[in-house]
Amino acid sequence: MKICDIRDMEDIQSDVLDYLDNKKHEKVVFCHDEKSGLKAIIAIHNTNLGPALGGTRMWQYDNISDATKDVLRLSRGMTYKAAITGLNLGGGKAVIIGQSTKKTDEMMRAFGKFVESQMGKYITAEDVGMTTHDMKIIYQETNHVVGKPIELGGSGDPSVVTAYGTLMGMKGSAYYKWGSDKLSGKKILIQGIGNVGENLLELLIKEDANIYINDLNKEKVQKISKDYNVKIIENNIYDCDIDIYAPCALGGTLNQATIPQLKCSIVAGAANNQLAQEYTDDDLLNKYNILYAPDFLINAGGLINVYSELKGFSKQKVLAKTEKIFDTTIEILQKSHKENISSQKAALKIAKEIVFKKHTA
Ligand code: NAD
Repeated sequence: MKICDIRDMEDIQSDVLDYLDNKKHEKVVFCHDEKSGLKAIIAIHNTNLGPALGGTRMWQYDNISDATKDVLRLSRGMTYKAAITGLNLGGGKAVIIGQSTKKTDEMMRAFGKFVESQMGKYITAEDVGMTTHDMKIIYQETNHVVGKPIELGGSGDPSVVTAYGTLMGMKGSAYYKWGSDKLSGKKILIQGIGNVGENLLELLIKEDANIYINDLNKEKVQKISKDYNVKIIENNIYDCDIDIYAPCALGGTLNQATIPQLKCSIVAGAANNQLAQEYTDDDLLNKYNILYAPDFLINAGGLINVYSELKGFSKQKVLAKTEKIFDTTIEILQKSHKENISSQKAALKIAKEIVFKKHTA
C-alpha cells in the first residue's frame, strides 16, 4: 500500500493545488493499494474543534484532480457543518475512486487500513456509494469508523436522521417564507432518490405534500414512483412548476445555467455543495428571490447521529438536536435579511466564528 501527500503527486492540476493552499487544509493524503485496486484520498480540513469526521464517497471520478477537488470541498463543508451544529468535531472527508458496484471486501479492508494510518485524526462514515455494511468491513481494520450497524454498537444508517434534519430545514424555510411550516399541498421535487431522498420522501408523504421525483437510475425511480404513488419528472427538472426544490443527489446543481430557470420559491435539500460557485451562486439565488437553506446546515442530521456513536447519546437526544435545525434555519435566514447577505454567507460567518474563536480562546 502506497500512501503519499497529494501535493507530491504529479498528475494533480495546478488549480486544485491553489484551492488546497487557499482553503488551508491540514492534511490531504492519497492511497493506492495495488492488490485490492483501492485508490482513495483522505482530506482533513480543520481539527480545531475535534477529530475530523466525515463520510466516504465512492464515485467514478474522471481523474484524480476531480476526485481531489471534491474531497477538498466536502471536507471543508464538514468543518462548518460540525461548528454550526454545535458538535466538537473537525472537518474531514474521504473519496474512493471507482464504481460502487465494483467494490470488494478486500478493497474496504484496505480502505480501513488507510483510515487507521491517520491515527484517529480522521473518522470515517457513509456517504454516496457506501453503506452501513461497508462500515462493518472497514471496522475490521480500524476503530475510527462510525455509522456502523446497530448490532455492532453503531448508530445505524445516518440517512434516516439526515432526512429528518432536511425536513426541519425545509419547514423552517417554509415558515420564514410563507409564515407557516405546513407543507401540505406544496409541490416538492426530490432530485436523487437514494438513501436520504427516499427517507425524505416518506417524511413528506406524512406532511401531505405533492411530491415529484427524479433520479438518474431509471429503474429505481420507476419502482419508487409505483411504491409510493408519486410522479416522476424526467426531462429538464429545473424549469418545472414547483414550490420547493430538494437536491438530494450530488452537488453543483445550483449554477449560472440552472438558477435562472428555477420557478420554485425555496431550495432545501440534503446534497452537499449544492452551489457550484459558493460565493456567487448564492447571490444569484437572492437576485431571483429564491430562498436557499444552506446545505451544510440542514443536512447535519446524519452527522449528529454518527456523533452520538462517539458520545453514547440516546436516539431521543439525537432527534431533539436534529429538530433544532428548524430554529437555526430561521435564525440564519433572519441574519441574512438583517445583514443583507446571502443565507450561505450568513451561515458560514457564524460557523467560522465558532471554529476560529474557540481555537484562540
Ligand atoms: P445515495 O448514493 O444513496 O443516493 C444518491 C442518489 O442520487 C442515487 O439514487 C443516484 O442515482 C442519484 N443521482 C446521482 N446523480 C444524479 C443526478 N445528476 N440527477 C438525479 N439523480 C442523481 O446518496 P445519499 O446517501 O442519499 O446522499 C445524497 C446526498 O446527500 C449526497 O450529496 C450526500 O453527500 C448528501 N448527504 C448524505 C448524508 C447521509 O446521511 N447519507 C448526510 C449528509 C449529506
